[in-house]
Amino acid sequence: MSVFENPAFDDHERVLFCRDPDVGLEAIIAIHSTALGPAAGGCRQWSYANSDEALYDVLRLSQGMSYKNAMAGLQFGGGKAVIVKGPGFAPSDALYERFGEFVDTLHGDYITAEDVGMTPEIMLSIARSTRHVSGLPAEDGKAGGDPSPKTAYGIFCGIEAAVAFKLGREDLSGLRVAVQGAGNVGYHLCRLLHEAGATLVVADIDADKVARAQQEFGASKAGLDEILYVDADVVAPCALGAVFDSDSIPRLKTGIVAGGANNQLAEAEDGQRLADAGILYAPDYVINAGGIINVACEYFGDVDDEGVAELVARIGPRLTTIFEEARAQGLPTNEIADAQARRVIAAAN
Ligand code: NAD
Repeated sequence: MSVFENPAFDDHERVLFCRDPDVGLEAIIAIHSTALGPAAGGCRQWSYANSDEALYDVLRLSQGMSYKNAMAGLQFGGGKAVIVKGPGFAPSDALYERFGEFVDTLHGDYITAEDVGMTPEIMLSIARSTRHVSGLPAEDGKAGGDPSPKTAYGIFCGIEAAVAFKLGREDLSGLRVAVQGAGNVGYHLCRLLHEAGATLVVADIDADKVARAQQEFGASKAGLDEILYVDADVVAPCALGAVFDSDSIPRLKTGIVAGGANNQLAEAEDGQRLADAGILYAPDYVINAGGIINVACEYFGDVDDEGVAELVARIGPRLTTIFEEARAQGLPTNEIADAQARRVIAAAN
């Protein structure tokens, strides 16, 4: 399939294919839009069945970053990168430095950071060959470091807003929340929910991560095939995307879907399916913007850690506005968010 025929192409400004057999690097960098500023979005390290699948993933994620950054009020366009974990993939400093060199050829039009499979230490390796990298280990009190705690905080604020809107409750104590994926984001979200008095059900393909949530937060465990369908006040997908479709939505037993995973809807129509099922959906790229807000504050160096938290907390009221507009117009929340994001980007063009 050519790039242009890819269903996620959406007139991307640039797509860079990066390969260096000497270090075993295969990566794709996608720049969807620079209308609002340099394209920013994390780098995902993942196994794909083939290069079409990797390309589809990076294009979809990159477009999502344009919308996410626009809705978060950042001076960032949208971009994303994937490093392909093919057969025999062997991570090394040399591989990440080489990836950084490819990032550097874009002269700051793309800024990278962590996504699934990446760490601040890997960002340090990338930073050896480019300065267009964020998510580096933070100094005390400064913005920076692993963005996932801030992502989780934004999701927590979003869950509070969704619970207030849907259930008319001002706190989360005693509510049951199902968390799919207890990785970087899921773990910190579980901590915040636990501190707020919520009861947790978790699932992860990594048994150690489930055990950690059980020990630290008294979570109960659900099967990988069950977690989305447990009877819960809130379902929070924090693993990978495309979890909601015409097959999964009728099986949900929750009233609220609010989690951190990118691209939770398999297709845009699934937003209508959720609305028809009476489920309030917090659009993924609005609720999970805490990490990129942290990245922006680190990159531009203008806000300290406390200031980042204040900016992230605005995700709650932003979602409430979307929920209210969706109700007033009788439209699904994802359509309202998409329209708002497109208006912001169009105004900058
Ligand atoms: P992570 O790799 O640390 O965690 C993901 C977890 O999901 C892992 O523990 C993995 O074992 C688990 N998992 C994978 N497939 C699963 C399945 N089918 N069922 C249950 N568990 C499964 O990644 P992360 O950084 O926590 O990101 C999680 C999601 O949030 C991703 O979709 C990512 O794109 C999105 N996101 C992350 C950030 C961030 O700051 N890290 C920001 C915005 C969005």
